[in-house]
Amino acid sequence: MRFTELPRPSQVVFGAGRFAEVGDEVARLGCRRVVVVTTPGRKALGEEAAGHLGDRSAGVLAEAVEHVPGEIADAGVARARELDADGCVAVGGGSAIGLGKAIVRDTGLPLVAVPTTYSGSEMTPVWGRTEDGVKTTGRDERARPAVVVYDPELTTSLPVAVSVTSAVNALAHAVEALWAPDGTPVTRLESAESARAIVDALPRVASSPADPDARGDLLYGAWLAGSGLAATTMGLHHRLAHVLGGGLDLPHAGTHTVLLPAVMAYTLPAAPVAAVALENALGGDPVAILSDLLARLGAPTTLAELGADDAQFDVLAERAVTPPPTHPRVPTAAEVRSLIGGLRPREH
Ligand code: NAD
Repeated sequence: MRFTELPRPSQVVFGAGRFAEVGDEVARLGCRRVVVVTTPGRKALGEEAAGHLGDRSAGVLAEAVEHVPGEIADAGVARARELDADGCVAVGGGSAIGLGKAIVRDTGLPLVAVPTTYSGSEMTPVWGRTEDGVKTTGRDERARPAVVVYDPELTTSLPVAVSVTSAVNALAHAVEALWAPDGTPVTRLESAESARAIVDALPRVASSPADPDARGDLLYGAWLAGSGLAATTMGLHHRLAHVLGGGLDLPHAGTHTVLLPAVMAYTLPAAPVAAVALENALGGDPVAILSDLLARLGAPTTLAELGADDAQFDVLAERAVTPPPTHPRVPTAAEVRSLIGGLRPREH
């Protein structure tokens, strides 16, 4: 056995009602003027966060949008400087956290992330930015949240359809961490447990969206998925999600439900350790179990359903393999073209 286990510097605060502790966490970091960022739809939650911060709040910026457009990121940095902020709280999904990361990456401020979806960005030092339809991502320790506050109560309002696509986004992190070349004993354990927890909790959330136990279990799975995402190199699945999402302006999370079963079917024969871990965690054939689950939950299964136009598939397939992704089965552009072109609803 040979591995390098990375440090896990983010403090994680998990539990129902713990959103109220965000002010204590900010105080612990020594911040006095904190800018709160969120998406327009979560503005009320941003105001609630400001309420928990009390006189440490410098204002709420509810302007985050998906994929971190460059001009929104730059405006966020400028606003944080104008406000003379010494800390940032990002509350919401990956879009809000993406804007928070853009701000702290430029300014060096500490970031507290309060996720309300399952997409996992809060656990990672990975930043993203989109210019002219091309999304660039990278790793930068300044972008990693110092504190992550997971409160399942904040997720009960997440509509079932978004919960499903977002949870499958998390599952994709766990699956790719399992076949990553830099996986460790710890990432393999947490990713298998993440997959088990997500596949167990997701149908319960779909049938009872307000069930606090189901929401807590799903958020727990998402945390573990984000932790694996942070510690390993993602492969073809994430490459495709970013290339197609950025290039065609698709909803990031829905892209995962379309791609994941197909990428698993393509990859698992070349990734036996991941295949066995997933079979054990899910109790059977992982591709069949996931496909059945997605069909039952009514998740998007074709790129056309997400509004994708196949005119650009050749260009995007080329982009997806340039440079080749780190993956157990390195694809050619033709293989990727065939994989994305062949995405049709599955028959079961
Ligand atoms: P999102 O943040 O775009 O949220 C989706 C929608 O749900 C938004 O309209 C939002 O306002 C709403 N919403 C969020 N929480 C809600 C709640 N609790 N109740 C009701 N509505 C709610 O979606 P996302 O999938 O979380 O994030 C997508 C973005 O995150 C993409 O840009 C993606 O690239 C990025 N991402 C980054 C990383 C990383 O490590 N850097 C990881 C995963 C995702």
